Amino acid sequence: MSAAFVPVRRRTLKAVVGGVAVGGDAPVVVQSMTNTDTADIASTVKQVAQLWRAGSELVRLTVNNAEAAAAVPRIRDKLAMMGVEVPLIGDFHYNGHQLLTDEPAAAEALAKYRINPGNVGFGRKRDTQFATLIELACRYNKPVRIGANWGSLDQALAARLMDENAQRSQPWEAAAVLREALIRSALDSAERAVELGLAPERIVLSCKVSGVQDLIAVYRDLASRCAYPLHLGLTEAGLGSKGIVASTAALAVLLQEGIGDTIRISLTPEPEQSRTQEVIVAQELLQTMGLRAFTPQVTACPGCGRTTSTFFQHLAKTVQEHVREQMPVWKIAHPGAENMTLAVMGCIVNGPGESRYANIGISLPGTGEAPTAPVFIDGEKAVTLRGENIAQEFVALIDDYVKTRYRPGME
Ligand code: SF4
Repeated sequence: MSAAFVPVRRRTLKAVVGGVAVGGDAPVVVQSMTNTDTADIASTVKQVAQLWRAGSELVRLTVNNAEAAAAVPRIRDKLAMMGVEVPLIGDFHYNGHQLLTDEPAAAEALAKYRINPGNVGFGRKRDTQFATLIELACRYNKPVRIGANWGSLDQALAARLMDENAQRSQPWEAAAVLREALIRSALDSAERAVELGLAPERIVLSCKVSGVQDLIAVYRDLASRCAYPLHLGLTEAGLGSKGIVASTAALAVLLQEGIGDTIRISLTPEPEQSRTQEVIVAQELLQTMGLRAFTPQVTACPGCGRTTSTFFQHLAKTVQEHVREQMPVWKIAHPGAENMTLAVMGCIVNGPGESRYANIGISLPGTGEAPTAPVFIDGEKAVTLRGENIAQEFVALIDDYVKTRYRPGME
């Protein structure tokens, strides 16, 4: 079933990152970040391509030394030769002013610069190094994300706000002062960037923290105090289900309030796990909330004592993997297929009902039921599958449905 309510997005300026709009009336953009050594060109190209194929619309990579900066234009060129035209974002800490000055080709190749105001430089150097970065962004016509982070908070600003707080007749709690320091760090830096000549339309802000309630509080406040597009993400979300649940809990609340113009799910991959999982989670979050459609959604029951075997679990997995693999082709040849809904159900209790709600649904036989699997197409019972080849036949029905239902010009 489609979402009954779609949140009204907060009004923001629109930044354009290598042709991808962020903010304004643009849909919420999915982005990701590599974890390869950027100087290792082959590995970085491979991972960026994987992230892009999985659906990442922007990909960030760390640019931490001269070798990494020198690699950036070569990475961009190799990706272009492969047909991977995803905008690359450079993540800079401490020495970005120097790297971008020394490597003009990297400054040109990157579609956006991410600057952390908490560690752009220290002491008196901070202001000049920040100014250099902004001047470079102006020279190369690049947008900038001013990304404050709880873990690298501007300590001088935090200390000043703590002192001011101590003078209040009713001081705030320390956590509230630190949240304010994070927000002020981003807003003050944006104001300074504009003074230095960067157009407000070239600024994206973020204020990342690792606690769900802190993130919600920070972004609500930040959103009420500026019109810049916001990059949403729970930093250091963690491993596996913990990282997915924490990120989803925080981002869903904010997205429901119309806050957030681009998202990144900062998962720690488990050993041997693909980096692309963060892209899939981001897409699924946006799609389950009815904000965007990326790939057909498969509704599957959890299974219970009525389920005769694990066959239906395998079928649900086969169907999910099949539609995700086909989506890059369908996106071009069969636009609209991403809105298709599928159901794979384990028995007769909820099977026919749930299957009728989907574009295509199958109700497998549970314990004691006849060994037949009725298939429903657009709410009507279309065919009954039986025997050894139910999975292949069901997948073939899905492919046929896509070919006939989603043709260019039919949306
Ligand atoms: S549809 Fe059937 S098998 Fe699936 S959870 Fe419900 S009762 Fe159990």
